[in-house]
Amino acid sequence: MNTAEILDLKKILSTPKKVVIVPHKNPDGDAMGSTLGLYHYLEKLGHSATVIAPNDYPEFLKWIPGTESVVIHEKELAVADALISDADLIFTLDFNALHRCGAMGIPIENSKAIKVMIDHHQQPDAYAAFMYSDVTMCSTCQMVYHFIEKMGDLDLIDTAIGEALYTGIMTDTASFRFPLTTSTTHRVIAHLIDVGVEKSKIHNAVYDTNSFGRLQLLGCALNNLRFLEVFKTAYISLSNKELDAHGFEKGDTEGLVNYGLSLKGAKFAVIFIEHKEESIIKISFRSKGDFDVNAFARTHFHGGGHKNASGGRSNLNLEDTIANFISILEDYKLELNS
Ligand code: 5GP
Ligand code: MN
Repeated sequence: MNTAEILDLKKILSTPKKVVIVPHKNPDGDAMGSTLGLYHYLEKLGHSATVIAPNDYPEFLKWIPGTESVVIHEKELAVADALISDADLIFTLDFNALHRCGAMGIPIENSKAIKVMIDHHQQPDAYAAFMYSDVTMCSTCQMVYHFIEKMGDLDLIDTAIGEALYTGIMTDTASFRFPLTTSTTHRVIAHLIDVGVEKSKIHNAVYDTNSFGRLQLLGCALNNLRFLEVFKTAYISLSNKELDAHGFEKGDTEGLVNYGLSLKGAKFAVIFIEHKEESIIKISFRSKGDFDVNAFARTHFHGGGHKNASGGRSNLNLEDTIANFISILEDYKLELNS
């Protein structure tokens, strides 16, 4: 978004507007943090804003200020669709293509609202009138901070906005350790701490609320870990039966894929999770260094994301998906060993 576009948006936002803010389906910390951070900012400017999530999100994010006002599209279809079609503006956050918000993509596409994208994923679709896309950013939450900065409103950042944005920067960088974490990221975090964000409270709320079942599921996942040394690839699988046996709840599998990547010598880590309702295998890909898992997911598994973190799916069963994956790895053997 250039200066002229910011001025245009500033003009549009100079009078009260009806605004809808949308995260991607199966919202994570960055999706909920960025939408709720922007929500508090726009409400402060005097707009009437609503965050509409395509479906529900994990309990460990339900303390973020503003959570109680979030509308879940899947649960409140009529209310959500009316808000979308009446909106003057729709902000879409933390995703790069409308199909990433599931069934909500259609009403958004049909709405006459001005669309604004704020996102850090590769190869964004051009559906928005205003596009703030930057793949060098560690998180959409950091981009919302820079958006507020571009609007000249950094002094409006308070604890509520700060807590929301801190959450997504923390989760998308795995607590400030992934490569896209920059000195600027730390300066943004410093500002958020200065406005009253209690960092330990947020780390505890997100990471230290494991249920017994989730820790047992972690044990099961680690037990299922396999390492294909010739491909420098680690993978984990979780069947529906295993998920059921440990009382699986939304969010329980978040971050499990990173254990594979923590294995000495692993360059590529994958988790395959059986989704019974959707009859698909949901796959998460993570890599270290130059191995591009965005390209890998796009080419072979109907997905995408970032260079070092992406997702996709398979319509085969769990066993066949893994066999197919291993056969594909042959073509990447040289690259994975370079
Ligand atoms: P996760 O593995 O945590 O679900 O996703 C990793 C990253 O890839 C996230 O940034 C997520 O938004 C993106 N991603 C996950 N699944 C898909 C997908 O099916 N398509 C695209 N384009 N991106 C995905
Ligand atoms: Mn993100």
